[in-house]
Amino acid sequence: MTTARRFRLSFEFFPPKTDKGQTLLLETAAALDANRPVFYSVTYGAGGSTRDRTFEAVAELTSAGYSVAPHLSMGGDDKRVVKELVDRYVAIGVKRMVALRGDIPSGFGSTRHVSYAVNLVALLREHVGTAFEIEVAAYPEMHPDAPSPEEDIAHFRRKVAAGANGAITQYFYNADAYFDFVARANVAVPIVPGIMPITSFANLVRFSDNCGAEIPRWIRTRLAAYQNDEASLKAFGTDVVAALCRKLIDGGAPGLHFYTLNQAGATQAILDRIRLPDG
Ligand code: FAD
Repeated sequence: MTTARRFRLSFEFFPPKTDKGQTLLLETAAALDANRPVFYSVTYGAGGSTRDRTFEAVAELTSAGYSVAPHLSMGGDDKRVVKELVDRYVAIGVKRMVALRGDIPSGFGSTRHVSYAVNLVALLREHVGTAFEIEVAAYPEMHPDAPSPEEDIAHFRRKVAAGANGAITQYFYNADAYFDFVARANVAVPIVPGIMPITSFANLVRFSDNCGAEIPRWIRTRLAAYQNDEASLKAFGTDVVAALCRKLIDGGAPGLHFYTLNQAGATQAILDRIRLPDG
């Protein structure tokens, strides 16, 4: 295991569905470890749909010696269920979590009331104390449910006030959106840009339509032109995202969080093209 760098590099995974997927995940983590990430994170299906699989993936990565942050949302769960899960994480040595509301409506029964991420941050802070790092989500291009950018920022600031130590953003391809958000949020905790490598035009369009991330027109038209030419699409995607990362680092971003989709290749190709501030 390498020593983590100061620059907050982190890699996100989703929980595999099979034993084979779990083995591949450990291989991906091992391949990315040479970059000296501060932590890996594992997503949580809305409504607790991956409760056990997320826990298993986190437990395997933790016992392999990696620092891991499980994602967690309240979904329709009551506080007792959430606290029990947190206790299980604490027992295996977890010291950092990503606290979220989770996506609606998939994780919430129609009669359930929505619990915003701020409530989970407060619950975690109360339950595990201050020796625990809590990350929250941030949206440089505004969360799609928010009535206005101002209200979205106000809600974001409440999560920080409730005890978050840092934030990770939704992905974006326009560095100005990130710097504008950081300036307007004006919080004392690091806001780490979320980076989505580009490997498929159709998937990127689908994800982006769902989460409200903008694909700038010049990028969209080039990707559309490469739809049947995977090598050119990936080469262009790597150019675009590496240039974005360089702009973010030059502008003072405190770290990078990669949405790896459990693949080391696309993320590593970008990292090979940039120089991180601490070598
Ligand atoms: P919140 O901070 O609760 O905000 C949600 C919306 O409600 C925003 O529009 C906000 O402005 C508004 N809001 C907040 N508080 C209030 C209030 N008191 N009154 C009215 N409106 C309010 N989803 C998953 O299901 N699993 C994951 O593992 C996962 N990981 C993610 C990791 C990152 C880094 C990011 C950026 C997102 C992730 N998501 C994940 C997606 C996330 O759950 C969705 O974007 C979700 O819709 C919002 O989550 P949040 O934690 O940002 O919510």
